[in-house]
Amino acid sequence: MDRNAISERVRAQMPERRWAHTAGVMETAVSLAERYGADPAKAELAAILHDVAKYWKIEDQKRELIESGEAGDLLEYDPQLWHAHVGAYVARRDYGIEDQEVLDAIRWHTSGRIGMTTLEKVVCLADYMEPGREFPGVDRIREEAVRSLDRALVLGFDSTITFLLANGRPIYPLTVLARNDLIRLLDKEADNG
Ligand code: GDP
Ligand code: FE
Ligand code: FE
Repeated sequence: MDRNAISERVRAQMPERRWAHTAGVMETAVSLAERYGADPAKAELAAILHDVAKYWKIEDQKRELIESGEAGDLLEYDPQLWHAHVGAYVARRDYGIEDQEVLDAIRWHTSGRIGMTTLEKVVCLADYMEPGREFPGVDRIREEAVRSLDRALVLGFDSTITFLLANGRPIYPLTVLARNDLIRLLDKEADNG
């Protein structure tokens, strides 16, 4: 399947406003990839597919998650986290994507993880700051993204964690670990600089 065929098939699975979000993530991910030295074509492909399963029924997401054999502890946490893993699973199975870097960028775009690759960071950050996004603090993330991929992504995770705290929601531990890992990297850079 070529890029346009993939796009059309993904587009058919979501409301038009979510496709507009996806288009924004594509554009932003390509520009962040160029700035920070990830492969722009991989960033674009991961962006196209990142929310492919977002509007699937929760029962369907749950079934695919279990079928994938890679659900881990996700079933114990917010179903909003599931579409990232389901997306990576169907990107391989239904769209023939074999590139592990692209699949991982889809898989970790929501939770983040320890030891994120530049491509994973780019897609995750693009998801936070694409032009259509509006939430408290998004402009600060956009400003920071010009200077530091890691610091901008910390601000992104902070906004999610703050939102979850304010609403009395559980926090997926890996999001906290991903944030701490980035801060550790930044501290190390500061020590060496
Ligand atoms: P979207 O798919 O483009 O809307 O963006 P995301 O893939 O980042 O969606 C994440 C959703 O999961 C947001 O609505 C978060 O509030 C929600 N969420 C719930 N728990 C967590 C968590 O522990 N970590 C993260 N990163 N997101 C969470
Ligand atoms: Fe998502
Ligand atoms: Fe998204």
